[in-house]
Amino acid sequence: MRAQDWICQMRVFPASMPLEGRTVIVTGHGPMAEAKARLFVTSPARLKWFTGHGADPVPADIAQYATVMDREPIRSDLHGAMLLFIAGGEPEAIAELAATARELGVLVNIVDSPAASDFQTPAIVDRDGIVISIASGGAAPVLSVDIRAAIETLIPARIGVLADLARELRGTVKSVIKRFDDRRAFWEMALRGKARDLALSGDRAGARREMMRALNGSAEPATGIVHLVGAGPGDPDLLTLKAARLLREADVIVHDRLVSAGVLDLARRDAIRIDVGKTKGHHPVPQQSIEETLIEHAAKGLRVVRLKGGDPFIFGRGGEELEAVRAAGIEVQVTPGITAAMACAASAGIPLTHRDHAQSVTFASGVVKQDGPDADYRALAASNSTAVFYMGVGAAPGIQSKMLAHGRAPQTPIALIENGSSDGERRFTGTLGDLAGLVVREAISGPTIIIIGETAAFSARLPQRQEQFA
Ligand code: SAH
Repeated sequence: MRAQDWICQMRVFPASMPLEGRTVIVTGHGPMAEAKARLFVTSPARLKWFTGHGADPVPADIAQYATVMDREPIRSDLHGAMLLFIAGGEPEAIAELAATARELGVLVNIVDSPAASDFQTPAIVDRDGIVISIASGGAAPVLSVDIRAAIETLIPARIGVLADLARELRGTVKSVIKRFDDRRAFWEMALRGKARDLALSGDRAGARREMMRALNGSAEPATGIVHLVGAGPGDPDLLTLKAARLLREADVIVHDRLVSAGVLDLARRDAIRIDVGKTKGHHPVPQQSIEETLIEHAAKGLRVVRLKGGDPFIFGRGGEELEAVRAAGIEVQVTPGITAAMACAASAGIPLTHRDHAQSVTFASGVVKQDGPDADYRALAASNSTAVFYMGVGAAPGIQSKMLAHGRAPQTPIALIENGSSDGERRFTGTLGDLAGLVVREAISGPTIIIIGETAAFSARLPQRQEQFA
């Protein structure tokens, strides 16, 4: 079969052109010209924009970078330029300008006329040193733009810091590590290991130190890293972009019961998964052994993700894990997640604060440590605030009586959201005086958020999740 028999031909070649010291010219005005000019404002190229006579002033971010001239270009303006973008004008004028430019060896792009252009403009992901171009050969620019959006979510925002460091150390690495294969192994370690995590968290100096340590053949074995990651309430769409990326990159995932299968599906197939939510006898793994598991794997040089339902720092014992891992001398980073209170409130249409009804919101736990202090019910029962209880189902009678004893009225609206954000979500509304009764009558037993306060009444205005999607 000849290459051209394939449907999937490479009809365009996405060459990369060095922009250092080059000149790029844009002609015309309006959104098209502006979009082309803006492509170059983060580049080292010299940008000249001929807007034509009487055009509106150009946006400030471009004006401070480009040389803007309110006239048409003449032949001498094109001398030595690399690229010319022609955005608008009469057909004869466009043809004449393009011909002059070509005579002078300038590559021409006529906006919206791919066939008449020497090159087309791809959709571009520009992350400092890393540039990705997506080209459809002019066939389906919208598709390219959508692919770009998808790629944007995959590439960490600070990847440029890493590229910049790599550029800085390239020469040194080449002189210290002679063999090509060894150099590749070094870069794999440097760009995928702990140095990468430090760079992506904004710690350029730390990343550089780590790379230099590896380069100098430090006797210490490389340690891994532990990420405490919020998995959100269950719906994978509610993960942060960073959490999704860390999941894809993890060697080991230590998760608990609240983390949904949909979220775990985003992990690498060959990652080691450790469920610490329950053991054979349905008892959760003791906190200390969880911490030991994290440390043990990271000490082997692995990337460990400790995936916790909701947010790691809200009733998640994230603080204890952070301290334990840090005390073992292992790098630990925290990625927040959407906590159950916020996910449930959003799903039920309950504003947690409201100018007319609630000037504050408090997250409280229905269950406290044995012999430990209880939540401050005087504050929780304040009339102009919203109280949100985690782990409150078993403790419902106690929550009800303590809130009433501290002065909250029995007719205060309440909402209970069970399995919030998942397909099995159930929502109930009622009044504080009937909280314990509601839990029993509706046999509420899954993970549930209890919201007490005037805004809880907003929930009744929305259909149940199942009805919404029916
Ligand atoms: N770190 C978690 C909370 C863990 S404590 C977070 O930030 O969300 C466990 C409690 O969280 C459960 O008892 C329940 O009250 C609440 N919870 C967790 N996921 C939930 C969900 N999907 N729907 C309702 N409540 C949830």
